[in-house]
Amino acid sequence: MTDCLFCKMVSGEIKPDVVFEDDRLLAFRDIHPQAPLHVLIVPKLHIANLNELDDADLGGRLLQTAAGLAEQFGYAESGYRTVFNCNNDGGQTVHHLHLHLLAGRRMVWPPG
Ligand code: 5GP
Ligand code: ZN
Repeated sequence: MTDCLFCKMVSGEIKPDVVFEDDRLLAFRDIHPQAPLHVLIVPKLHIANLNELDDADLGGRLLQTAAGLAEQFGYAESGYRTVFNCNNDGGQTVHHLHLHLLAGRRMVWPPG
């Protein structure tokens, strides 16, 4: 999608701080990190949000990539949080599906 921020990152028009890439996914550091590690994992295909995800393999790969990056950055044992924000009440601001991976501090519950 031409006017989508994360599609521009996938195409290379905008260059984020990439921490992982494969044939279907790109992961990069959030520009406004909410934790010492804050990574966004996005499908290369434009999917607006979780409501539009109908590919179980892709969903599984998003989650497994988050767990793999948590392990790689040393947070598998101490813990981490993964979040999909969906639409307005979910707090979604970029309408290209992305999984947040947050780690390196104690998270609180309930979330804000
Ligand atoms: P959402 O609120 O949609 O769940 O998350 C969107 C995330 O994208 C936010 O955490 C925000 O900080 C991040 N973000 C917005 N613009 C940019 C950008 O230009 N570069 C990067 N790396 N992250 C961005
Ligand atoms: Zn997009």
